[in-house]
Amino acid sequence: MNFENYIRDIQDFPKPGIGFKDITPLLLNAEATQACLDLLVSSLQGKKIDKVVGVESRGFFFGMLLAQKLGVGFIPVRKPKKLPFDTISASYELEYGSDILEMHIDAIKEEENILIHDDVLATGGTAKAVCELVEKLGGNIVQCNFLMELTFLNGREQIAEHEVFAALTY
Ligand code: 5GP
Repeated sequence: MNFENYIRDIQDFPKPGIGFKDITPLLLNAEATQACLDLLVSSLQGKKIDKVVGVESRGFFFGMLLAQKLGVGFIPVRKPKKLPFDTISASYELEYGSDILEMHIDAIKEEENILIHDDVLATGGTAKAVCELVEKLGGNIVQCNFLMELTFLNGREQIAEHEVFAALTY
């Protein structure tokens, strides 16, 4: 099953000049979704994972599937003021200005083994902020995995101290 065929390129989204990788055709197809999930899971062979962290919002889809497949809990990382309980936060740079991500303070216990998942690794700013959140709570980052890596943006450099796996690279 070649799930790459289920990623759609949208030109000029969300802004002129940007090419956006749309994962909704992949989500529409159960067989392609399963093939993609299987590849992500196979990259974790022999690794002990206690919890999966998924990044708002497209990181929730496969993040939750990964957690269920691995038989562990799922932690949502969200934009500010979305989580109802006490939170920790980390900021990251955008093209213009910065943004903040939050996680519940009781989501991770010291030394727990954490898998971080998001749909796309682009500049790596988001992933770096999520790593910061996990480490603030004493979590041990086992792998950061992504459906896609846009290699020309060098996002890996932002999280160079961690293992990175991407199901597809561009
Ligand atoms: P970064 O912080 O690495 O520059 O951007 C990664 C974040 O932006 C991810 O949370 C991802 O969902 C989103 N993102 C950036 N580019 C794309 C894209 O082409 N397609 C999708 N689906 N998400 C993107």
